[in-house]
Amino acid sequence: MTKHGAGVLYVVATPIGNLEDLSPRAQRVMAEVQLIAAEDTRHTRALLAHFGLRTSLLALHDHNEAECTPRVLARLLAGESVALVSDAGTPLISDPGFNLVRAARGAGVIVSPVPGPSALIAALSVSGLPTDRFVFEGFLPARPAARRTRLAELATETRTLLFYEAVHRLQEALADMAQTLGAERAAVIARELTKVHETVSGGTLSELVTQLAADAAAPKGEAVILVAGTAQAQSRAADIEAERVLRILLGELPTKQAAELAARISGARKNPLYAKALEIAARK
Ligand code: SAM
Repeated sequence: MTKHGAGVLYVVATPIGNLEDLSPRAQRVMAEVQLIAAEDTRHTRALLAHFGLRTSLLALHDHNEAECTPRVLARLLAGESVALVSDAGTPLISDPGFNLVRAARGAGVIVSPVPGPSALIAALSVSGLPTDRFVFEGFLPARPAARRTRLAELATETRTLLFYEAVHRLQEALADMAQTLGAERAAVIARELTKVHETVSGGTLSELVTQLAADAAAPKGEAVILVAGTAQAQSRAADIEAERVLRILLGELPTKQAAELAARISGARKNPLYAKALEIAARK
C-alpha cells in the first residue's frame, strides 16, 4: 500500500566519468527534491556546483546507512522527496542504498528510478561478448584464496561474466581468472569508460594478463572485466581440472610422467595432456 502524503524516494543515476551523461531529468529531480542523500557529499557537491544546483545534502554511505535510514525515512513520511545518489553510476549497484530502498518500500513510500549510466551495462554494450544472458558478480573477494574459490564456482558458467575490480587488484584478479577459468577464455577489460583515456581491450585471458603487465606504466583507472561464458560447461570444467592437476605435477615430475599421472588422476586423455605439458614447459 502506498503511503498517502509521503514524498518520493528517487534513485538517481549519475555519470561514471563524463558529466554530459547526467540526464536532464536527473538534473530536474535533484533540483526539485528537498534532500539529496549522497554517498560522498563532497563529491556530489562538486557535481551539483557544475550544474548550478544548491539542494541540501546528507551523507549516506556504507558506514552510516543503518543509522541514517530511519532519519531519511522520517523525512519521506513527512512528505519530503529525496534523491539518492552515489559517487558514480547507479546507486545500489555495488554502492550504498539497499537498506534505504528496502525500508522505504516497506513503509509504503514510492521509490522511483531515474535511470542512467552504470559501468556494467556500458561495458557490456561495447564488449562484443554475448549480451543476451549475463551474470554480474560485482567485486570479487579481496583475499586471494577466497577469490579463487569464487572463480572456481564460476568455471562452468555459460553466461557472460562481469566483474568490477579495484585498480590495484586488476592484475592479480586477471591472473587468477586465467588460471581458474582457462587461459584461452575470451575476455575484455573496459577501462575509464566515458573518460579521456577510455580503452576497451579484448583477447584471451592470458593475452590480457601479458598486455596488462607490459602496460604497467600506462594510466590505470577504473575497470570492468568481462569474461565469455564457457561453451561446453561440462567438458570445459573437466579440462580445467585436468590442467590444474597437470600444473601441480609438472612442478614435481618430468613432463611425460606428469602428463601420464595427470591423465590417470583426472580421467582426461593422455595425449592432449602431454601436448599441454610441453606447451607449459616451453613457456617457462
Ligand atoms: N554504481 C556504479 C555503477 O553503476 O557502475 C559502480 C560503483 S563501484 C563502487 C565502482 C566500480 O565500477 C569500479 O571499481 C569499476 O569496476 C566500475 N567503474 C566505475 N566507473 C567506471 C568507468 N568509468 N569505467 C570502467 N569501470 C568503471
